[in-house]
Amino acid sequence: MSDLVVLRPEGLYCPAGDFHIDPWRPVERAVITHAHSDHARAGHRHYLAASPSAHVLRARLGEIRLQTLDYGAALDIGGVRVSLHPAGHVLGSAQVRLAHRGTVWVVSGDYKAAPGFAAEDATCAPFEPVRCDAFISESTFGLPVYRWQPQARIADEINAWWAGNADAGRASILYAYSFGKAQRILAMIDARIGPVYCHGATEAVNAAYRASGVALPPTLPAGAGVAADDRRRALVLAPPAAQGSAWARRFGEAADAFASGWMQLRGARRRQGVDRGFVLSDHADWPGLERAIAASGASRVILTHGQVAVMVRHLAAQGLDAQAFATEFAGEAGSAADAGAAAPGAAAGAPGAEVAAPASPAATAA
Ligand SMILES: [Zn+2]
Ligand SMILES: [Zn+2]
Repeated sequence: MSDLVVLRPEGLYCPAGDFHIDPWRPVERAVITHAHSDHARAGHRHYLAASPSAHVLRARLGEIRLQTLDYGAALDIGGVRVSLHPAGHVLGSAQVRLAHRGTVWVVSGDYKAAPGFAAEDATCAPFEPVRCDAFISESTFGLPVYRWQPQARIADEINAWWAGNADAGRASILYAYSFGKAQRILAMIDARIGPVYCHGATEAVNAAYRASGVALPPTLPAGAGVAADDRRRALVLAPPAAQGSAWARRFGEAADAFASGWMQLRGARRRQGVDRGFVLSDHADWPGLERAIAASGASRVILTHGQVAVMVRHLAAQGLDAQAFATEFAGEAGSAADAGAAAPGAAAGAPGAEVAAPASPAATAA
């Protein structure tokens, strides 16, 4: 039986149905797992994506020829039955299930999977395990050192940090990817502490989330300037690229922090040059990857997107048929604008983005 998904120069490809999944070069028909820029690129002729992603996809890509599919609904593409299932990563993120002649493959896209697949992130549907024969899983944080705390604990940390700064009369600037992470944080914070300002890049995505029916607390655009009284109690959300800019300096003597899974690494906060690091990721940690892979029931697992080598060995030791695909997906990035400055210490060669991480595609090809 030939493989339902193979790796082509354009990206992941389903030969039986003649379509690509998250291709990085323009193709005729693209199934898109989610609207992050390393997965949803411009220039494809047809797009298929989960219904809840429509607003964020269009906010990012403009007018595209987009067909949407509700979670769990199925569509026949060239004899392959295609359905999309929640991945719990960001609004509209989906795993792609492909069924053809009795064989089922699932492409995870990016996902996060809390213990018990519980719904922690209020801005998107939680990860739903899908049984399959072969599971193509992301592995951005595929090292045992990555273990996330419950979201509620991180929310308490962020709120305490913000309240402490507000009591001391200084603004709190929190750098977070503008699509996904920022909205998740907005849904986590205690908006009674003070006013919330957002960078223009973040505010644009907030609008797409609200248009999609996601409840977020009131936010103010930080572009036009902030009154001194407000500034002293403000929480300011901005993409990492805004760090050190004139834009950030308008908030005066502010405290700053970075929210990312990379903050788990020793030295990452210092390399990023911020006062605080909050370990908050929209990707699965090591136990989350194990949980999702086990729940898929797949006997064959193909890892992409990040630190794949250790997980490949770990799964092979359990008797699974494990291998890696060298994809061109970036690390934990939110947009093209974010990606350049997103990786803490990327310039210094620290593990910040996939390209800078120790596991290079060449080293991890199985
Ligand atoms: Zn993503
Ligand atoms: Zn990704």
